[in-house]
Amino acid sequence: MEAGSSAAAALVAMALGAAGAAPLTAQASVVREGYAMGTALRIELVAEDDSRPRTLAASEAALHAVERTEALLSTWRNDTPLARLNRAPIGVPQALPTDLATLLETALDWSRRTGGAFDPRVGALVDAWDLRGTGRAPTLEALGRARAAAGDAAFTLGHGTLARLHPDAWIDAGAFGKGAALAAAADTLRALGVTRAWMDLGGQLLVLGAPAGDPAGWGVRVAHPSDRTRTAAHLRVRDASVATSGASERGVEVDGARLGHILDPRTGAPAPAWGSVTVVDADPVRADVLATALFVLGPEAGLALARTLPDTGVLFLVTRGRDAEARWNPALERWRPAVNPAEPVDSRSTLPSTPSVGRLP
Ligand code: FAD
Ligand code: MG
Repeated sequence: MEAGSSAAAALVAMALGAAGAAPLTAQASVVREGYAMGTALRIELVAEDDSRPRTLAASEAALHAVERTEALLSTWRNDTPLARLNRAPIGVPQALPTDLATLLETALDWSRRTGGAFDPRVGALVDAWDLRGTGRAPTLEALGRARAAAGDAAFTLGHGTLARLHPDAWIDAGAFGKGAALAAAADTLRALGVTRAWMDLGGQLLVLGAPAGDPAGWGVRVAHPSDRTRTAAHLRVRDASVATSGASERGVEVDGARLGHILDPRTGAPAPAWGSVTVVDADPVRADVLATALFVLGPEAGLALARTLPDTGVLFLVTRGRDAEARWNPALERWRPAVNPAEPVDSRSTLPSTPSVGRLP
């Protein structure tokens, strides 16, 4: 994936529903496709009345909200506030832009609440394993050095300030940045009166409202953890974000072994590829953060934490050979989970269905 792309510059196509290319859903009035944060971005908005110009303007505003978030958080280019903080002199507290301070406070709060399973201060470990390159197995000494430059030893967050504590330390927004972009886009769309929308940023979804005539919500397919062309489960979602984390999409190959891109900051090593976690939550940042954290915690400890979350649906898919065993917390029932779904007619995304094994909690 090329680095440094921006959403607006990468806009590749725009289609007006009835008048333009056939949208994924017959109701879509405006469909926009772009490229942001090194991944695909798709925005579909349904015009409530026949005001396509207003809906088109809303899609443009949502696109720019994603672009602004990338311009705040990217560590794949060096001209963003977070990238500059990652190069700040050691031990000198730097003033934070308010929006970045809020995001970092939220992220580090989740780091505490997940016992460090989620921690954006993993930059030195990303480098040690060369996860943004071709991958390498660090020596014990190199891994020890990287662990000394991650987590609490990497940065301290003051009130509106951040101090970098180690020359190898940097903050990686990879596990909360997409959520932050979708949250900004959702706020923008709601402020412009959009009530029905579907956004997909690199596989993290944000949906507003529900399709016309189907108040239960948008049909969402969850891929089989080790074969994304197969559906393992199906949900019905409205006014929420859906984030999935696993080790099947991004990673590196080291000495013939595939290593996923999600690290366990508690051990300093990539988390084992046991399956995937899908999180449904009204807050896209919480969905993004928890998908990573619960993947690192794994299906046992992860489900125990998920059971303490009354408003966050969590689905664990544990790979069992060609099958996937589904486990979920009580909150997920709200989104009508169906495992081993018959081919759902109106559900979205790119996944045909296949068999999987289901297990209720
Ligand atoms: P998630 O599970 O949500 O996050 C995993 C990512 O978070 C890892 O890739 C790593 O970066 C980090 N991480 C690993 N372990 C942990 C942990 N335990 N706790 C916290 N964080 C962890 N990719 C490109 O190829 N080119 C780009 O130009 C580019 N620009 C980006 C700009 C921004 C602002 C962001 C947020 C990401 C960008 N990416 C880019 C990365 C790309 O979007 C990834 O797909 C995305 O970050 C991974 O999201 P995910 O949901 O697949 O994985
Ligand atoms: Mg994510």
